[in-house]
Amino acid sequence: MDNHQADAYANVLTQLTEVKDLINLDENAFRLLSEPQRVLRVALPVRMDDGSMQVFIAYRSQFNDALGPFKGGIRFHPDVNESEVKALSAWMTWKTALLDLPLGGGKGGIIVDTKTLSLGELERLSRAYIRALYKNFGPEIDVPAPDVYTTPQIMAWMLDEYETIVGRHQPGTITGKPLSVGGSASRGPATGRGGALIMKLAAEKLNLPSGATVAIQGFGNVGAEMALAASDLGFKIVAVSDSKMAIYDSNGFDVASLMKLKAETGSLQNFPKSEVVTDILAVDCDILVPAALENAIRSDNYNSIKAKLIVEMANGPVTPEADKLLADQNIIVVPDILANAAGVTVSYLEQVQNASNYYWTEAEVVAKMTELMTRAFDSAWLRRSNLQTTFRNACQVLAVERVVTAMKARGRI
Ligand code: NAD
Repeated sequence: MDNHQADAYANVLTQLTEVKDLINLDENAFRLLSEPQRVLRVALPVRMDDGSMQVFIAYRSQFNDALGPFKGGIRFHPDVNESEVKALSAWMTWKTALLDLPLGGGKGGIIVDTKTLSLGELERLSRAYIRALYKNFGPEIDVPAPDVYTTPQIMAWMLDEYETIVGRHQPGTITGKPLSVGGSASRGPATGRGGALIMKLAAEKLNLPSGATVAIQGFGNVGAEMALAASDLGFKIVAVSDSKMAIYDSNGFDVASLMKLKAETGSLQNFPKSEVVTDILAVDCDILVPAALENAIRSDNYNSIKAKLIVEMANGPVTPEADKLLADQNIIVVPDILANAAGVTVSYLEQVQNASNYYWTEAEVVAKMTELMTRAFDSAWLRRSNLQTTFRNACQVLAVERVVTAMKARGRI
């Protein structure tokens, strides 16, 4: 078994060790970056609808704040654990640094299956998380956002709880909010749109033909928005999948109709002219986009892949072992910390709007996001050729160097 599956944080350390060897990273910096600055664990008592009290275990990992306040989502999932939260908080640190945002990295989570909760129980649980941890949050301390199974509505409850406790409006405490309480235009589709932009930049570097074919694993928020934006950019989306099935059409899907079908029926079934396939990874295509889960591409399944380019939209979809094997086959992997960074980039733009209490149009937000993502892509691509290493390593190197420079300036190292 790839060790990543056993312990997500071991993967962070493996990647950091590679960076250390590549750039001869200072031993002290390596030691400091091997541990989150703070990991908080709390027990959240929640009154259930039947009158009983349940206790939910929750975490917040504040990995590094040398570049600015900790920043990262809150995940509600039965598999949340300390190692995963720590790992995700490290990746957030690299992501914000790679995008050159004045932010650090953090991540939170609650061990819960939200499907078992009523709406009222979900609201009380969300508010309990803030009551337990509010002293550690704030626009200048740590700024949460949505992640798996957390939504703009949950962010609105959390912000309301926070502002009620501190007794003042502070919308920049949480991002990914609904527009009505200080959210940003374009936050919803941002991750998918940014991913399509990065895919276009990478496809150009690899001289892939215009109309290059794309298979997308996961047709949720990220996968569907990416499919839509990518087909607008001229890519041909030939295969998509969800947790139940994968479908294929060599002529390319009409993505808007596919999104309509999925929204109306909850399924990809019965889409006209499509063919059901068993393994989306093995589909004949130029570009593969894992946009669902961690560990989707592993040493036991990587060799069915026909694509020349992989764009990681999920967090951690390729295990370190598979990453090496793909590199040996000259398959380029655009790493998650770049490919899916438009979400946190627009979260940052949301905070900027909250701080100035002035709100931009969708076109203004998209233009700023495009500029920040393109700049990050160009610097990382240049670093890749200078270092003669994988694109993932080049992105990590840029990020780690920026964090270390700030730590040195602060006298922490
Ligand atoms: P989502 O819940 O909206 O969608 C996930 C999709 O994956 C669903 O369509 C689900 O059916 C599908 N899926 C689940 N298991 C699958 C399987 N075995 N095979 C194929 N499809 C499967 O979630 P999302 O917001 O789209 O997030 C997807 C990934 O992107 C996650 O890893 C998340 O951490 C990452 N991500 C999301 C954002 C964001 O802004 N939403 C930002 C950065 C990274």
